Formats: sequence, C-alpha cells, structure tokens
Amino acid sequence: MNSGGWSRGNVVAGWRRYALMVSFVAVLLPLIGAANLNTANRVAAADVIAIGSVIEINDPQLYLRSAPGFDSTVLAHMELKTRGTVLAGPVAANGLDWYQIQTSRYGTGWAAGKYLKVISAPVATATPTGGWAAGSTIEVIDPQLYLRSAPGFGSTVLAKMALGTRGTVLSGPQYANGHPWYQIRTNAYGTGWASGTYLRLISAAQPTATPPPGTIGIGASVQTTAVLNLRTGPSLTSTIAAVMVNGARATVVAGPTWAGGIPWYQVRTTAYGTGWASGNYLVLAGTSALLTKPTDGLSRLIYNGVSSRNEVAITIDAGADRGWAEEMLDVLAANGVKVTWGMTGAWASANPDLIERMVNEGHQIMNHTWSHPSFTGVSASPAMTSSTARKSELTGTADYVYNLTGYRMSPYWRPPYGDINTSVRRDAYDAGYWQTVMWSIDSMGWNGASVSQILNKCAWGAKAGDIILLHVGYSSKDYASLQQMITILQNRGFALVTVEELLG
Ligand SMILES: [Zn+2]
Repeated sequence: MNSGGWSRGNVVAGWRRYALMVSFVAVLLPLIGAANLNTANRVAAADVIAIGSVIEINDPQLYLRSAPGFDSTVLAHMELKTRGTVLAGPVAANGLDWYQIQTSRYGTGWAAGKYLKVISAPVATATPTGGWAAGSTIEVIDPQLYLRSAPGFGSTVLAKMALGTRGTVLSGPQYANGHPWYQIRTNAYGTGWASGTYLRLISAAQPTATPPPGTIGIGASVQTTAVLNLRTGPSLTSTIAAVMVNGARATVVAGPTWAGGIPWYQVRTTAYGTGWASGNYLVLAGTSALLTKPTDGLSRLIYNGVSSRNEVAITIDAGADRGWAEEMLDVLAANGVKVTWGMTGAWASANPDLIERMVNEGHQIMNHTWSHPSFTGVSASPAMTSSTARKSELTGTADYVYNLTGYRMSPYWRPPYGDINTSVRRDAYDAGYWQTVMWSIDSMGWNGASVSQILNKCAWGAKAGDIILLHVGYSSKDYASLQQMITILQNRGFALVTVEELLG
C-alpha cells in the first residue's frame, strides 16, 4: 500500500468544491477555465491503483457494482479479504475513485478504491522482464498465479497455480495490461497464459535454427524480444557494436543471411545505428494488442503504455486560451520531440495556424470534443448524456481538423475532465473513438504547481510507459517546465514518443 494513499478525503472534497464553483462559471463561459478544470476531479497519480494490481477487500462487506457510483446495480456483497485483480479505473463518481475488479468468487464489477487494499502492484520498471525463448523453463514466483486462456487480465482464469510451479514457455511475450505474457505448459495445470512479471527463468532455451514465423521483409518495422546484440556482420563471431534493450525498434535494411543456423537481418535503429541482429529475437512491430480495436463495443481505457521500453508520452491539452501552445511547439521543434495534443474543436477553430504546425511537425492530435462538456456530469454540469450530442461533439472537431489539414484523429480521444463511464465508452466506440487516452501523471500545473513541483513529478518521477498530462494555458507553469522536463527525461534514458507509438 502506498503511504498515505487513502487519507485524502479532504483533498478530494476540496477539489470537488473547486469543480462545482468553476462549473457555474463554465455554464456562462463554456471555454474559459476549461483546461484548468480538466483534472479537477482526478486524484494524484501516486494514489492510483495500477491496472493489473492484485487487491483485497478492506471492508467487512463491500458491494460489487455494475458501474462506477452508488447509483449502479449491486451485483454482490463481497466479504472482507476477498481478492481480485484490477481491470480498469480509476473512474471518478460520487467523490470516490472506482475500479473495475475481477474476482473468482463474485465475478467482475466495480468497487470504490477506498475499500481496496493493494496486495501486489505490477511493477513498471525499465528492466524488461521478458524475452524468454520458446522451450525455456520458468517457475511461478507468486503465491497464487492465474493461468489464463489468453494474454491479459480480462481473459478467463483456467487455474490457480501454486508458488514454485514449473513450466515450459511455448510462445510470447505478448504485451497486455502493461505485462509481458507467456504461453506456458505445465504438468499440473495444463497450458495457458501467465504474466511474465510473476515468473522467473530457470533455464533458457538455446536459440533455434528455425526462422521466425512470418517473413520479415526489407523495410519491415521490427522490435527485439530480448536484450540483443547488434553486430557488425551476420554471425556470432562478428564484433558487438551495441547492446539493444528488449523492445528496441528497428527497420530491416537487408537479410535474412543465414549463418550458424541463425537468420541474420541488417537493421537500422535510431538509438544504436545500423548493424546485424539475430532474427530469432525480432518480431514484426505494430502488432501490439493495445493497437487493435476492442471487440466488446467499449472504447479502451488507456492510462499508460507497455513498460518494456524506456518510453514516455507527453500529452498537452488545449481547450481554453491559446496559452503557451506556440512557444511549446517551438521548444518541441528545437528538441525534435513529438507529443500528443488533446484538442477541442473550439480551440482548433480559434487557432488554425497552430493546428497546421502540429500536423506539419509530426505530432499526434487526439479529439478532446468541440466544447469540452462533461459527458457524465461528474466534473461539470449539465451532463451531456445524449449519444447524439456526444457524437456530434466528436465528429465536429474531427471534421474541422480534417478539412483544415487532412489529419484524422480517430480512434484517439480524451474525455473532457477525464469524465468517463460505460455509456460514454460505448458512445465513443460507436463514433469511431475506441482509444480513450487518460494519463498516469498529472503535472497539476492547472492547479498552481510550481516548476520544481512539476519537474519532480513529471521528469524525476516518470517511469517507463507513463503518459504525462500538461496544458497550454497561460496560468500554468507547464510551459515554463517543458524544456527542463525534456532534458531530464532524455538524460534519464527515456525516449519521448506519441501515445500511438507508446502503445505499439
Ligand atoms: Zn480538457
């Protein structure tokens, strides 16, 4: 449990008062202060329970509900110490943060985070967990690890594996919920998928002589599946020019050239230059599960990316004043950094010159609706609950930006204020926005944070996979922090990428 994690009732109440106060202003002046309100209802990132965390019910009798909030249907009464896995959240409702949890005893539903105790959190580190070759022997290092039907915490639980269970890796890793998943075969529980975070390697399989499935053609975008040597020539005896991290991305320039039973590819990378790598540890990139359209009809909630690469995504929302957007673009251009802008149609139509710059300079832009209404009513009123109205907010902005620049924002959008629930996710999905981009670090610049506070949180506190939230507004110190933020993050070894790249 993070220290002081749940003693924040007064803080939340304070934010709610702030949100209510400003919402009256928002009725009269729909856009003024909209950027500042964006996160009025969110908690600090340190309090957020990460998706994939194992939690325990910390209340004598807690209701499992059909949706966030006390108005939703009660699905079950959960007993104290019931365990489950966090699938999604947090979603703000009734002044609390709600999480979707999966339990073996009561099924899946929503519960307030206040009554959940974190037993184990998925550790997002810069160190790759995965990269084990098929045939490797692994061991379960968690007291009770689920064997699942597919990668991801949303899939069916096939068995509970005991600590020390051994198995053989059949395939993987595949990334889901920020974890590297492996298909494993065990004598005791059969075959299924498990998170590599809770496995340790006992003995690694030797690289096989067979080429990887699927042809890797010239020009293909690939990524490494292990820490991998980049060599000066196509053989194990060639000089090692660089050591690539697990998940490093590269473009295939030539190959395969067979040597020592290994298919070698010449690859070009931004980080390590050009050299030769074993095709046994390369897979085609862009097949990440996080880039596929969900099949459940609900827009995917994204708080952070996979943690196997040293990447961080900066997102900057623009919804009210023109703010420091132009100066921020200058800083980004000077550093060669691409970010993801959350854009309202109202802001875009007031600042078309900057939209053109964003597109021309290679940034990602996501839809932040036209007029920044709350789709749930949690952070501002009135709630926009009509599916038709919600969709026209999204399509209006998309059409404006497309007609101006030819850029298509879908499927990425960011809900105003981060207000989200199942009905909003369904409407967004139906409108073509199946990627709902939230954030894992809020600079709090909108709330008066100083440059040093912003840097402590966003630059020194960032970890691989984080999505950082900034705003363009004049009143925020986000712009004043930007150059140092970039320098510190890069010095710490992070590549700064767009959200789309972060998920790939
Ligand atoms: Zn906003």
